[in-house]
Amino acid sequence: MYEQYYLYLIAIFIVFMAQAKVQNAYHKYKQIRNKRGLSGAEVARRILDLNDLQNVSVEVSNRGILSDHYDPVAHVVRLSPDIFYQNSIASISVAAHEVGHAIQHKEHYGFIALRNRLLPYANIASNFGWITIVIGLLFFYSSPIILYIGICMLLVVALFQLVTLPVELNASSRALKQLDNANFITKDEYTSCRTMLKAAAYTYLAALVSTILQVLRVILIARRRDD
Ligand SMILES: [Zn+2]
Repeated sequence: MYEQYYLYLIAIFIVFMAQAKVQNAYHKYKQIRNKRGLSGAEVARRILDLNDLQNVSVEVSNRGILSDHYDPVAHVVRLSPDIFYQNSIASISVAAHEVGHAIQHKEHYGFIALRNRLLPYANIASNFGWITIVIGLLFFYSSPIILYIGICMLLVVALFQLVTLPVELNASSRALKQLDNANFITKDEYTSCRTMLKAAAYTYLAALVSTILQVLRVILIARRRDD
C-alpha cells in the first residue's frame, strides 16, 4: 500500500547521505594542507602541461563552492576560489580531477563521447520529465500514453547518469595517477586524495539510484490506478 512513499523516502535519504558524505570529506580535506604547498591552480596548470595541453587554460569559477568543471568547448578548467587558490588536499584532488576530464577529452575517451551525445536529450528529459508524469497521472484514464512518455523521459535521465559514472570514476583515477606520477603527493596523501575523490563519486551513484527508485515509484502508482 505505502511502497511508493517508502521508495520516495529512500531516494531522498540516499541523495542526502551522499551529499553529506561529500560535504564532510570536502570540509575535512580543505583544512589539511598538502605537503608540497601546491594550490589547485598550480597543480592543474602543471598536469595540463605534462600532458601537452597548453591550449587549455585554468580560471577561477565565480559560481561558488563545488562549481568546478572542465568546459570542453572553451577549453577551460574552471575552479571555485577555494580550489583555485588554496593548497589543501581537497584543492589538488578536485583540480586534478577536472584536468582528468580535459585529458579524457583529448584522448577521445569513449564514455565522454556517448555522454555528450546523450546530453541534449537528458536536458530535455530532466526539464520536462516530471511535469509530463504529473500531467500523465491527471489524464491517466483517458490517455495513459502520457504517463509512459514521462517514465521513458526519466529512464533517459537514468541512462545519462549511468554513463556519467564511468566518466567520473575514470577522471578520478586519472587524477590520482597524475598526482602520483608527478610526485605532487606523498603516499599518505595519495590515500587522502582517493578518499576525497571517492566521496565525490558517491553523489553520482546516489543520483542514479534515486532516479531508478523514482521510476519504480511512478510505475507502482500507475499500476495501482490500473487495477
Ligand atoms: Zn568530474
